[in-house]
Amino acid sequence: MRFGIVAVLAASLALTGCAKSDNAASGGVTEAMITSPPDGEWLTYGRDYGEQRYSPLDKINLDNVKDLGLAWSADLDTARGQEGTPLMIGGKLYITTAWSKVKAYDGKTGKLLWEYDPKVPGETGVKACCDVVNRGLGAWGDKLFLGTLDGRLIALDRETGKEVWSQVTVDQTKAYTITGAPRVVKGKVIIGNGGAEYGVRGYVSAYDADSGKQLWRFYTVPGAPEEAKDEPEYLAKARKTWNGEFWKLGGGGTVWDSMAYDPELDLLYIGVGNGSPWNQSYRSPGGGDNLYLSSIVAIRPDTGEYVWHYQETPGETWDFTATQHIMLATLKIDGKERKVLMQAPKNGFFYVIDRETGKLISAKNYVPQNWTTGVDMKTGRPIEVPEARYDKTGKPFVSTPGAGGAHSWHPMAFSPKEGLVYIPVIEAAFPYFPEANWKPNTKRGFNVGIDQAAGGMPADLAARNGARAATKGALVAWDPVAQKERWRVPYQGPWNGGLLSTAGGLLFQGTAAGNFVAYDAKDGKQLWSFAAQTGVVAPPMTYMIDGEQYVAVLAGWGGIWPLAPGGVLNEVAGPVPNISRLLVFKLGGKATLPPAPPLSRMPLDPPPFTGDKAKLASALYNYGRYCGQCHGDAAVGSTVLPDLRRSALLGDADGWASVVHDGALQDNGMVSFAGTLSRQEIEGIRQYVIMRANEDKKLGGPGT
Ligand code: CA
Repeated sequence: MRFGIVAVLAASLALTGCAKSDNAASGGVTEAMITSPPDGEWLTYGRDYGEQRYSPLDKINLDNVKDLGLAWSADLDTARGQEGTPLMIGGKLYITTAWSKVKAYDGKTGKLLWEYDPKVPGETGVKACCDVVNRGLGAWGDKLFLGTLDGRLIALDRETGKEVWSQVTVDQTKAYTITGAPRVVKGKVIIGNGGAEYGVRGYVSAYDADSGKQLWRFYTVPGAPEEAKDEPEYLAKARKTWNGEFWKLGGGGTVWDSMAYDPELDLLYIGVGNGSPWNQSYRSPGGGDNLYLSSIVAIRPDTGEYVWHYQETPGETWDFTATQHIMLATLKIDGKERKVLMQAPKNGFFYVIDRETGKLISAKNYVPQNWTTGVDMKTGRPIEVPEARYDKTGKPFVSTPGAGGAHSWHPMAFSPKEGLVYIPVIEAAFPYFPEANWKPNTKRGFNVGIDQAAGGMPADLAARNGARAATKGALVAWDPVAQKERWRVPYQGPWNGGLLSTAGGLLFQGTAAGNFVAYDAKDGKQLWSFAAQTGVVAPPMTYMIDGEQYVAVLAGWGGIWPLAPGGVLNEVAGPVPNISRLLVFKLGGKATLPPAPPLSRMPLDPPPFTGDKAKLASALYNYGRYCGQCHGDAAVGSTVLPDLRRSALLGDADGWASVVHDGALQDNGMVSFAGTLSRQEIEGIRQYVIMRANEDKKLGGPGT
C-alpha cells in the first residue's frame, strides 16, 4: 500500500515540477524531488536515487549537437584531480573541487555567487591514496552537504555558502579520508570514508540534516574482540569469517564512493571496499570470506539495520573493491520486470542483482580476466584460478584486471531507450608480489602486504613501452539483460571520464587525451568534440534554465592513474597537463578558452650518481612503499605533483632532508617522514632518484 502512495506522490510532484518551471527545487530539496527530479535540475550525485545519470532533457540532441559550443568557463584554484559532479538547483550550479572546496555559480551566466573553503590541512594529502579529490555534494531542504578530505561532514546554507554545522566523522589520528559525495535519504545525510590502503576499519554514518547529530553508524567489518559482546548479529556473523588479529590493521571495507537508494523498498545500498591489508595471509591468516569486504550491503536508512548482502569477491586479496557505481533500474528479464541493482566492480564481472533480495540474477565478465574462469551461479562466488592467490602461493601473480580495476569510481550511465549501460572501462594488469616478513606501519605509506617496488612499473624504456601498449581504456556499451557488449570506443589511455546519457540520444564523456566528446548513444559514433586542454576524468551533467539546455563538466587531470603509474605511461604518450576548470556548454555557445600555456617542466638534469649501489635495493623498496603512490612508479613523476627526477633538491642533500625528514613543505601536503624513515634511508631515496634520473636522461624518449 505504502509503495503505491510513494509512487503516486513522486509522479505528481514531478508533474508539478515540470509545469511550474525548470527550477522547482528553489523552495527546498525533498525526497520526492530526488526520487523523480524536475527535468532541468540535478539534485543528487547520480541525478536520482537510482543513480542512472540519464537526463530526460533533449533540447541538445543528435541533430543539433554539432552546434554545441562553450557557454562559459570558470578557472579553479586547485591544480589537482577534479572528479566532482556539479549539482544544479534553482538555476545555480554547485561544484566541489580538489581539496574539498565548494563554489556556487549562476548556471546561466557563470557568475561566481559564493565559495567555501573548509581549509583542509595540507598534510592530510598524504592520507589520500588517490589524490586530494572530491566527487560532490548532497542536497536537502535549503542546505548542501560536503565531506572533506580530513573526514568532516559540513552543512552549508545553499543561498549564502555559510557553514551551518560541522561534524568530525572519523578518528583523525588515523588515515581516514572522505572523497565521496554524501547522499541524503529521509533527512539523513549518509557518508562513508576511505583509507583501506593504510589500515582503517570501514563504516558509513548517518547524520540529521538539520542538526548534524549522528543518528547511526554501520560498520562493514568486525572490530576488536572486546566489541563482540555488544555487536549486532550481522557483525557476529561476519566475525566468524575472519581469522587472527585482523582488527589491528582495521580490516578495511571502506565505503568511499557508491551508494544508491530505493524509496519503494526503503533500502539503502552501499558498496564496500577492499581488505586492509590487501594480502589476505597477513589480514586473516588461513583465509575466510572476510565479510563484508567487497560486498554490496542493503541497509535500512532510518536505523542502519542490516537487511542483505552479496559478496562479490570472498576473501579478497587483490584490492577488488565493490565500491564502484551502484545503479538501480527495472529490466525485463525472461519476460518478467525485475527490480535490479547493477555494478561493474574492479574484479571485471558485470553483476545484475535482485535488489529486493540480494540474489544474483547474472554475472558476466566485461573485460578479459585471468584470475577467474567465471561466477558459479549456484553459490554466486567467482571460480578462482589457484595461481591468482599470491597470498597462498607466496609467488607473484600478474592479474587482469588488477588493483586499478576494470572500472574505478568513474560513473557509468544508463539509457532506458537503448537498454544499455555505458561503462568507462580500464584494461590493465597489476603485479602482486607477496612480501615475505611484511611489517605494517600505519603511520605513513601503504600497508598492503605486497612489495610495490618489485611490482612497480619497469624503469627500462622498452618495457615501459610494452606496459603502455598493454594498458588501455574503452567506452563500453553493455546490454545488462543479454550480459553482452554491444559496441565500444577504444581509448589509448586507461583513465577516461565518467558518463552522462540524455534523452537527446547522446552520450557525453571526457577523455584522458583531453577531449570532451559527444557520442550517439545507439552506436558510439562520435558526433562532436571539444579540446579541453587537460585530461577530463569527472562525469558531465546537464541542466536547463529558461528553456535552454546546458552540459557541464569539471576538467582537470588527476586521480590515482596520473599519479602512480601515469608518469611512466604518459612518458610514452606525452604528458597530460592539469588545467582545472569548470566547462559549461550550450547550443551556439561562442565562448573560448585562452590558448593553452606550454607545459613547463624542469629539465631532466640530475647530478651524477655517487651513492652506494649495494644500498639501492632497500632504497627502491622504501621508494615503492612511501613515495611512488604520489611521485610515480620508478620515480617517473606526473605533471600533477613534482617529478622528483627534475627536483632542484636532487643535488642538495640537506635541502632534500629538510623536506622529507623535517617537513619543510608540509603545508603543500609533503609531510615529514621522520619516525618512519631514518636520515640515512631518506638519503638513500635521494640516491635512488638520482640513479633513475640519470638512467632516463641516458635513455632519452619523450618528455626527457
Ligand atoms: Ca583500495
